[in-house]
Amino acid sequence: MDGPAGTGKSTVSRRLAKQCGAGYLDSGSMYRAATLAVLRAGLDPEGPVEPVVEIATTCELELVTDPDSPGIRLAGEDVNAEIRGPEVTAAVSAVSAMPAVRAVLVDRQRELIAAAVRETGGIVVEGRDIGSVVVPDAPLKVYLTASAEVRAARRSAQDRKAGRDVDVAAVLADVRRRDRLDSTRKTSPLHAAPDALVVDTDELSADAVLDLLVRLVKERGLCE
Ligand code: C5P
Repeated sequence: MDGPAGTGKSTVSRRLAKQCGAGYLDSGSMYRAATLAVLRAGLDPEGPVEPVVEIATTCELELVTDPDSPGIRLAGEDVNAEIRGPEVTAAVSAVSAMPAVRAVLVDRQRELIAAAVRETGGIVVEGRDIGSVVVPDAPLKVYLTASAEVRAARRSAQDRKAGRDVDVAAVLADVRRRDRLDSTRKTSPLHAAPDALVVDTDELSADAVLDLLVRLVKERGLCE
């Protein structure tokens, strides 16, 4: 499940995984936790590249792919709240644009995917390049989109719920900035795989998107 920020990927992916008894992997949390490690090391995420790559590729990440309690730990510490804060959000696109960082994290994602498939028979993975790069032979690829305004409104509602201060105009500016950085980077830019089902969620609730996807995975025999 790929698409830009705020399209409802996390909500829908996790619920779909639960419904199908599959694993769930939020690949963005890995780029975010690696970025947090870079910031904690006192480095500038914009570079020089070498020390950023060194930290981002060697930091100790532990992922839980159970959709009932998904999450990530950095060197044993629960960082799930901190990686969604403004400092990491502002820096993550720079770190995730570095090819050497992507190479290591993509390998790690493939290992986690293989392990979940062995254990539960399947996994729902969300990100930017899952259908195009990480799992090009995935049995179902979905690309969620929505206008920047709708996505910024959704992100703001999430941040408010998480107890963070919200400035909707700043969230919209950040959504647009990350769209631009994520879609123009050289390595694995954000785009729908040619064989992905593109779903525009501007007018669709998370429930409606979930219904559509559940129907689809059932039709394809991917979920009972
Ligand atoms: O999905 P989320 O918004 O948490 O992702 C944070 C950032 O991580 C994205 O803006 C993007 O720069 C990067 N990312 C990526 N490839 C993925 C997932 C996330 O480059 N598969």
